[in-house]
Amino acid sequence: MKKKSQSKEGLFLTDAQLKNEFAKCEYCEEKPCMDKCPADCSAADFIMAARVFSASDLKRSAAQIMKNNPLGGVCGLVCPDKFCMAACVHKKFDAAVNIPAVQATIIKKARELGGIAAFTRPRPNGKKVAVVGSGPAGLGAAAVLAQKGCKVDIFEKEKIAGGTCNWIPGFRLDKEMLAQDLEFAVSLGAIDIHLRSVVRSPETLLKKGYDAVLVAVGLTEPIRLGLKNEELAVPAMAYLKNPKKYKLTGRVAVIGGGAVAADCAMVARENGAAAVELLALESIGEMPLTPKEMNELLENGIEISGRTRVSAMVKRNGRIRGLATVKVALAAGAAFNLQDIKEVPGTQQARKDFMAVIVAIGSRAKVARSDRPGIFYAGDCVNGPSTVVEAVAAGKNAALEIDAWLRRAAKPAIANRVKSSVELHGYVARPVPLESDFFGRKISTPFLLSAAPPTDGFEQMKMAYEAGWSGGIMKTAFDNIPIHIPGEYMHAFNDLTYGNCDNVSGHSLDRVCGEIEKLVKLFPDRLTMASTGGPVSGNDERDRAGWQNNTRKLENTGVMGIEYSLSCPQGGDGSEGDIVSQNAALTAKIVEWILVGGSPYVPKLFKLTGAVTSIAVIVNAISKVLLRHPEKKAGITLANT
Ligand SMILES: Cc1cc2nc3c(=O)[nH]c(=O)nc-3n(C[C@H](O)[C@H](O)[C@H](O)COP(=O)(O)OP(=O)(O)OC[C@H]3O[C@@H](n4cnc5c(N)ncnc54)[C@H](O)[C@@H]3O)c2cc1C
Ligand code: SF4
Ligand code: SF4
Repeated sequence: MKKKSQSKEGLFLTDAQLKNEFAKCEYCEEKPCMDKCPADCSAADFIMAARVFSASDLKRSAAQIMKNNPLGGVCGLVCPDKFCMAACVHKKFDAAVNIPAVQATIIKKARELGGIAAFTRPRPNGKKVAVVGSGPAGLGAAAVLAQKGCKVDIFEKEKIAGGTCNWIPGFRLDKEMLAQDLEFAVSLGAIDIHLRSVVRSPETLLKKGYDAVLVAVGLTEPIRLGLKNEELAVPAMAYLKNPKKYKLTGRVAVIGGGAVAADCAMVARENGAAAVELLALESIGEMPLTPKEMNELLENGIEISGRTRVSAMVKRNGRIRGLATVKVALAAGAAFNLQDIKEVPGTQQARKDFMAVIVAIGSRAKVARSDRPGIFYAGDCVNGPSTVVEAVAAGKNAALEIDAWLRRAAKPAIANRVKSSVELHGYVARPVPLESDFFGRKISTPFLLSAAPPTDGFEQMKMAYEAGWSGGIMKTAFDNIPIHIPGEYMHAFNDLTYGNCDNVSGHSLDRVCGEIEKLVKLFPDRLTMASTGGPVSGNDERDRAGWQNNTRKLENTGVMGIEYSLSCPQGGDGSEGDIVSQNAALTAKIVEWILVGGSPYVPKLFKLTGAVTSIAVIVNAISKVLLRHPEKKAGITLANT
């Protein structure tokens, strides 16, 4: 029988899979995935942040997840598909974006790349809060309270922190991820976790000087079947905490039909059980398992006996050596419910083949609620069995209430205990580094003004630089070339239009050169570029001289780059040379003239038109010329064409 590979690598996506999931995301404006996430994580935003895939993008994306969910890594691995994925609109096309796996992988990658961007720690506000229980609810609350400046002491009865997450089997939850999420949560402020510290009464903590106490103790009491000899069976949680201790071999029965029973079955199989059979009151279709969980059971050869009630446990030599079972039924068409289940007469069976039994029919809370002011409750201990992300949300909501109470402010209205939009204050939406490099020259942003009316003169450029632009290309100017602008470009030339709204500048090249000299001196940290062209008369000698003279004239001004408008005029009137870059041979010839005659220190950009059937032909022709002049700084641009 095949045993599924349970390596932790299988929990994360490969780069190719991750990019494939990114490509599926529609970046929905209404963010239905976020609406359905109990912790309010926005896949639309964290996928958008990560999609370029650079290290800083992945780290920023991870921080976006953690600002809503300090157990974001854990949740990426264990969130069921009933939340964000159920709402993902992409399932209308084929399948939902695999948001949990994307989330887990982004966080893992961010940590491998040096860590999630740090959250700022707040100034202490002088308040002390005790949290009982270090599970997701306690941690969610502690994270929010610490970020508001409270000193938080978490008391945990076990020797490890993390609550029930510790007992989620390793083939689903990589415990390194849990440890790293815990480290992240504790780093958010003044949080101390006191292990092996059982709290018997929250009131005593108030007496010890805490301003508020949050009880988040989860579900601690296993629900029992009430059968004779049941004490010889292993309770699910005890088994998951230490499966090796029980050495279950032979055929093992797991009583229960939920996710915890499924985990017990898988862990028993992994730890040496020859065969494992789930005995559940539900039919297979009614078992509250995700398709993934059901597949895992089937792939691992777990047998499932639905509509089966265990009615007795048989004891021999101080051990369980068999079960009595009976089939149950519901009225045709009735939804599954415990009250209406009836035993089917004549279906009793004595199953002597079982060597051990695990009881996994649920746990309940053992909390005596106090109505003393200053004591709060959150998580599964008050909401019943839920999920990690819902417990985190419950903890965040409780923190909101505690914060209001500490400030003697009005109690916040919380519509849904297990949905919370609270964000961690210390998240810094770090700006994307915009500093860029233009042929070895540093510029503060890659956003430049293109050659157009806003750059048609010294005053316009100065205003742009004073407003923060990192550079601009002055509007295209030539020497001694009759400019012919087809009449239709100027048809809207009236008081409301900007003079010479398209094409080239009305200024002489000499004037533009003078303005560039001034700009370069006044704004040495900005990228001041020129745009020019030259004649295309058919007389190569004269034309070459024209292009090269314009180039030299501009280079003498200290200009930081020259754009050659091989795309003008944008519309064109159809005559050859009217738009140079519609003709590969002509374009290559002009580029050659410019590179041969121009300085190797002043970068040249050749601006092409998009009005061609295939721009690849033109680009290939230019590339061949550029390869012949490796010492020259040159490139291609499609700016405002
Ligand atoms: C086997 C199993 C598998 C699960 N799998 C998933 C899954 O795949 N996905 C998912 O989303 N959810 C899963 N869950 C559910 C999820 O783990 C819980 O919903 C969640 O952990 C509840 O969080 P909590 O903080 O309310 O309680 P808990 O996580 O139970 O934490 C409570 C903490 O309080 C401590 N405590 C209790 N009493 C005291 C005391 N008197 N003094 C001090 N400390 C005390 C406990 O030791 C514990 O650490 C699973 C649960 C189980 C049992
Ligand atoms: S619903 Fe799906 S497709 Fe839309 S933003 Fe969220 S993850 Fe992307
Ligand atoms: S925390 Fe869970 S439910 Fe929320 S977006 Fe992430 S994977 Fe989905």
